[in-house]
Amino acid sequence: MTTVLIIEDEINLNKILSDYLEHNGFKPISAHTGGEGLRLWQEARPDLILLDLNLPGMDGLDVARTIRKTSRTPIIMVTARQEELDRLIGLELGADDYISKPFSPREVVARVKAVLRRRKNQAQSKKTLPGKNHEIAFNRAQKGDSLHSFKAIKQIGNGVSDWIFHLPPPSTYQG
Ligand code: CA
Repeated sequence: MTTVLIIEDEINLNKILSDYLEHNGFKPISAHTGGEGLRLWQEARPDLILLDLNLPGMDGLDVARTIRKTSRTPIIMVTARQEELDRLIGLELGADDYISKPFSPREVVARVKAVLRRRKNQAQSKKTLPGKNHEIAFNRAQKGDSLHSFKAIKQIGNGVSDWIFHLPPPSTYQG
């Protein structure tokens, strides 16, 4: 079963996400602080992490950085404000996606599925076709011509050394 670790201090929101994920066939694990989240991440090794930015004590940025030191577990960052979202994307933390509040649980589940599917495709293409990631990045860039998706692709492309040469000039992505 696919395990999703929810690190969110708002108890009601955490519960709603947990219930909704469970209803959709996932195994949710809830943490309400960054420290608890890191502990459960090490214990349970979840398939994906939903990570709130504003947490008491250790915030979401610290949690993401700590995880990324040793792991590529997919992370979806959750933020309450658009400015935070822009800043986060600029930081290139290696998060796989971003969701801004307010959101619907349905949207969250859709994003979780999309990130997991993308990760699975990447893993398969790495196994079978070493050059495949370049094509995936290129195709995605052509579909979503916004600066946001360009940056997201840059993050997705982490670990791929030369995919950027396969993309049209960055001016294409101003939008
Ligand atoms: Ca919070």
